[in-house]
Order: sequence, then C-alpha cells, then structure tokens
Amino acid sequence: MPALSRRADALGTENAFVVLAEVNRLIREGRDIVSFCIGQPDFPTPTHIQDAAVDAIRGGRHGYTPSAGIDELRAAAARSMAALRGIEIAPDDVVVGAGAKPFIAYAIASVTDHGAGDEVIYPVPGFPIYESQIGALGAVPVALPLREARGFAFDPDELAARITPRTKLLILNTPHNPTGGLLSAADLEAIAEVLRRHPQVWVYADEIYSRLVYDNGDGAFRSIAALPGMQERTIISDGASKTYAMTGWRIGFTANRALAPVFTRWITNTESCASQISQWAAVAALNGPQDDAETMRHRFHARRDLIVPLLNEVPGFRCATPGGAFYAWPNVTEACARIGARDSEELRRRLLHEAGVAVLADIHFGARVEGDGQHIRFSYAASEAAIEAGVARIADFMRKNTA
Ligand code: PMP
Repeated sequence: MPALSRRADALGTENAFVVLAEVNRLIREGRDIVSFCIGQPDFPTPTHIQDAAVDAIRGGRHGYTPSAGIDELRAAAARSMAALRGIEIAPDDVVVGAGAKPFIAYAIASVTDHGAGDEVIYPVPGFPIYESQIGALGAVPVALPLREARGFAFDPDELAARITPRTKLLILNTPHNPTGGLLSAADLEAIAEVLRRHPQVWVYADEIYSRLVYDNGDGAFRSIAALPGMQERTIISDGASKTYAMTGWRIGFTANRALAPVFTRWITNTESCASQISQWAAVAALNGPQDDAETMRHRFHARRDLIVPLLNEVPGFRCATPGGAFYAWPNVTEACARIGARDSEELRRRLLHEAGVAVLADIHFGARVEGDGQHIRFSYAASEAAIEAGVARIADFMRKNTA
C-alpha cells in the first residue's frame, strides 16, 4: 500500500467520539448505560429555529452562499457577539463556518508556518483538537497547565515563562472544556498585561460556551477581546452549537478584522460555505426570542448544583464547583487508589463495563498535569434522572469495590 503522510500520522482525534461509538455499541448489544460522555445539550433545538430552517427549505434557499456566510447572519453574529462582550464588531469582520471547530485549524494554519518552529501555546487539560491540529499543521505545541488549586485556570506567570520570540498563537478557552473553569477578570487582565509585552502573539479566544456562565463574581461572561489593545489581535470564536442546542446544524462564527478575509479563503478552499438552511436557522436563533436559550442555561445551572454535591458524596471523589459550560471534572485520585485502579483511564473503563456509566478520562484531554492527580469528565447535559441514577451507580460501584 502507498505510504501516508507524516501529517496524517500526526493527526489526533477527539476521544469523545471514540468513546461514544463504544457506548453506542454496548447499548445496541442491550447494555443499560448512563452516558455523560458527549458535550452537547440534550434539549431539542427551539421550535422557532426549526421553523426558520423549514421556511428556508420551502422558500428555495438551497444554493451556495458567500463563503463568509449570508449578510443577515454575519450582521446578527456581529451584533450578538459584540453585545455580550461590550465591544464593537463590524459584520465584515465576522466569518461563518460549519461549526466553531474548523476555525481552530484555520487559525493555526493562518498564523504559523509548517516546520518553521512556530509555537502555539494551548491549555492542558484542553479540547483535544487544539493539540491535534497544532501537530498536524507542523507547529510546535507548548502546553500550558491548568491547575486545580487555581480553579482550573493557568497562572499568568506560567504563561509568561512559555512565550518565546517563536510564539505565534495563544489559545484561550473560557468557560473551559473539560473542567468548566473560567478565566477571572483579574486573570484576563494579567494575561493581557503579559501579551502587551509580546506583540507578535495572536490570541484564539475559544468562547463557544460564552452563554453558559453561572458564577464569575457577577455571573457575567468576560472576553480578553474587551481589554485595551486586545481586540485587534484576538480571534473571537463562538457559535450556535451550545447556546441554542444546535450541535448537528454546524454553525460557528469568528470575528477578527485582519483574519476574516483569510478565513473566508480557507472556507472557499474547503467546505465552500456553511449549510444555507442552517445559516437561516442561526439568524432566527440570534435575532429571535432568547427565552429558550435562557431556560436551557438555567437548567444546566440547576444540574450543576445537582451533580456536584452528589459527586462529592461518592467515596474517593472530590469535585470543585465549575463556573461555566456543562462539565464537571472531579478529582478521582483517591477513588483509583481505593479500588486498585492504575489510573483514571482504568477507572473510566471499569465504570463503563461494571457500573454502566460512560465518562471520559483526563488523558482524553492531554497529558495529566504533574502534581494534580487523576480526573474524569462528566458532561452534565443529561436529565436530572440520569444524573441521579448515574452517580448512584458510581457510588455503589465504589462501595462494592473498595478493598
Ligand atoms: N471548542 C470547544 C472548547 C468545544 O468544546 C467544542 C465542542 N465540543 C468546540 C469548540 C466545537 O464546537 P462546534 O460544534 O461549534 O464545532
């Protein structure tokens, strides 16, 4: 067989999809599994958004759109992103894509050169696509550890220590997958202060969970882009997936003046444009009533307040209260020791096969942070009944298996 490229070998994956395939196989075989493994809202897309898609289909809106997206959606996304962050964004600076995810690769590819030693700093634990794309695109990955003691934020001094003249891009993610952590106002100020000393560094602000903030002092979402001098160099990334329960519709949007034409060219080179039907649905999502999105946020908040105390009652589990997104990231170091599991991955496998509960392990989100122990991830975008039943199964499993 002809050989594959080094790039193909370097490409990683998102293990949530791998574990999901395994979970679905077990369910097909008749196993009863409570799943906390996939990060997507469990609610249907609100009806008025569905209706807008049906209208687009019936109205003959079937063709390609401009690669940057339809004007109506660029304007709606500009207005919505600007209002949340307290900044101004011009519709021309916004590019719409098939989800927020493709922009991770477009951004890395647009500001680093392959094999040139260009460095990208990214959070660990973190969304696995960052590291995968940095490697596949031939840049140098520089991991920035998030620490439990800091509420799963990184220390701005540790950021400063990692920036070199070769650093081209810093990836930030708040609220954060997989920990649910937030960057506080003070941390964002400190990060901006560090960046002001290094004007060659772009920022990719992955803010896909921007509408899912529960605590941050005043409960407000904060973006690095709102700080003096930061907007020009920040690629703001947001989208419809998490806010409007639209993961399968594939709509994301970014804002950055200099990079908008470059991202547009990437899209012309790859998917041509996001689905026109989904774009009209997203216009309805952004411009229409926000009650459904608010209701979902309240439900996620309530579920967080349900799952965290339950997890803290599980023998050997210790769970910090996450400030946003829909993830809980309990420390299970002691749980592993109690049942004689080598690590969080063995615990994850045993929970799946012996307790019928699907979660992800920390190693699915990068190398473990030294000194921070073992963690597993729960996506609590699941019903209250599933949360209660799933955590009860885990508690049972722990009691039965504690030596
Ligand atoms: N960034 C992060 C941190 C995510 O968790 C996700 C989805 N899991 C994405 C980006 C991609 O979202 P989308 O569905 O818009 O591609």
